[in-house]
Amino acid sequence: MGIELQHLTKKFGEYRAIDDLSLTIASGDLIALLGPSGCGKTTLLRIIAGLELADSGKIILENKDTTNLPPRKKNVGFVFQHYALFRRLNVFENVAFGLKVLPFRERPSRSEIRDRVEHLLTLVQMDWAMKRYPSQLSGGQRQRVALARALAVNPRVLLLDEPFSALDAKVRQELRRWLRKLHDEIHVTSIFVTHDQEEALELADKIVVINKGRIEQQGTPQEVYDHPANAFVYNFLGNVNVFHGRIKNGKVSFGNHHLDAPDELKNIDEKPSQTFVRPHEIGISRIRSSENDLAGSIREVRLLGGQIGLNIACEGLDSTIEAEVPRELFVNLQLAKGVQVFVTINRVRVFTGDYEI
Ligand code: ATP
Repeated sequence: MGIELQHLTKKFGEYRAIDDLSLTIASGDLIALLGPSGCGKTTLLRIIAGLELADSGKIILENKDTTNLPPRKKNVGFVFQHYALFRRLNVFENVAFGLKVLPFRERPSRSEIRDRVEHLLTLVQMDWAMKRYPSQLSGGQRQRVALARALAVNPRVLLLDEPFSALDAKVRQELRRWLRKLHDEIHVTSIFVTHDQEEALELADKIVVINKGRIEQQGTPQEVYDHPANAFVYNFLGNVNVFHGRIKNGKVSFGNHHLDAPDELKNIDEKPSQTFVRPHEIGISRIRSSENDLAGSIREVRLLGGQIGLNIACEGLDSTIEAEVPRELFVNLQLAKGVQVFVTINRVRVFTGDYEI
């Protein structure tokens, strides 16, 4: 097993930053730890790396109990959000640093160090910049060097704490694709922390969604996106419309609108409910196609790359609806601000927990 965390707990004063968290990651997997700001992602990475001590629990890395080892003995590679390169060392020296400071018995020879650093810099496509200093590199290039440096000592596991979040959107996207390819070549068990669901969905073998120091759900990107376990995960993974209402006699009601309740909730007496639907699952037409359609008027039109975002006020609903339609449909239906439309709500998920948005 790559990483096994058993019942980790970490309190700051009375606040439980990590709350009895257990997690198993297969050797060679790249997992994304996804959650809102302050949910405990960085604290968890710091505990795994030995930079922070857990109050209780165990950390097993590649079958070795490392719970009480100091950071230097854990053999963990770490890449931080902000470039942590040594400013006065050039790229080659930065990557070689971890090897040069090893105790004499473990230290490779000079030529072995040179070969290894050159190999790693080629792997991260930075071999052309060996003599450059960090100030002569772009943000994305510095993060690639930081990654080569973290890999130099053959770490048991690699921890990446929002490594691309300081970069602009385009570079970020390029780097995450590049990282995915690189990981397929090197297969170091890795944890990638992010609060960006798109990044997690695109990059990871598995996603672990955390909230308030606990795991809400884990699974492949598709499992977590298509079958969110609860309202928190649904809301966190992508844009969503939420309609607050009640469930009663096999019907879910919000505003003046009523839908058949999902089978598993048909027998509930009466409860508050939240009905979730993703913007791209809202159907838009100019003519009423069923009696369940809602009549509405377009309040706002937004360009979202290939899709068009619509904000629609519907009769009988307290809040407006966010919809996303392909450009082609937008043009064909001659949609625009102020146009009257009919809205079909498809594929809803209904939750009856106490979740608050
Ligand atoms: P972000 O995405 O904003 O970086 P995060 O999920 O990484 O957030 P952490 O940095 O792990 O969150 O913090 C988790 C909680 O623990 C927060 O409420 C934070 O205020 C608290 N916390 C973290 N470090 C300390 C500390 N040294 N002392 C006191 N509280 C702390």
